[in-house]
Amino acid sequence: MQLLDFREFTPFNQLREKMDTAQLGYFELFDPAIHLTGSERSELSERGMLKRLEEIRVLPDKTLAIKNSRVLIYNPDENYYRNSREYPTYHVAHCSFLLESAREQPDLEFLATTRLAEDYDLLKIRPSGEISVSKHGFVVCKHCLHSLRYKDFDEFRNRKRGYSEKVLKSFRLEEFFALYTLYPLSFGQRPAAAESGVLGE
Ligand SMILES: [Zn+2]
Repeated sequence: MQLLDFREFTPFNQLREKMDTAQLGYFELFDPAIHLTGSERSELSERGMLKRLEEIRVLPDKTLAIKNSRVLIYNPDENYYRNSREYPTYHVAHCSFLLESAREQPDLEFLATTRLAEDYDLLKIRPSGEISVSKHGFVVCKHCLHSLRYKDFDEFRNRKRGYSEKVLKSFRLEEFFALYTLYPLSFGQRPAAAESGVLGE
């Protein structure tokens, strides 16, 4: 099928003249390899997607993405937090913790989501095999903030400890994703392998 060349298409060019613009605008063709489908977007914003770290894309700015959407990820296993005596934590960047996790437990699945909330679901697997879901408060991973130097956060410099603690305590997902747009990410072209890697490589 021969497609029209819209640059030579008179009605469009007349419309462009009426709008008083010489610019053609910018568009990206839908490519399911790099663009989320409608149902994938709903899944990410509702119950989330279980992914191994190697399936999560690391963008050049070190934030995390699935196709053309940034995401946050967390380990949804309640037992993990109980056993490690850690408060439930989500990750927003490629950090030292995820790097180690990818090395030690490459098959561990994280829940990726675009839902910005105070509480997230944790799964509890009882010895009987029965699975229950409960909501729990979360904090942001400080290694992620260090990775991004978010608001100049530094987890190692003593001189800045007080300041960095303030950044950590006042962290808000809405503010973070206003700075790092969640969706849609525009690549202009298929992202080259050199520009974005995956965790665990
Ligand atoms: Zn992290």
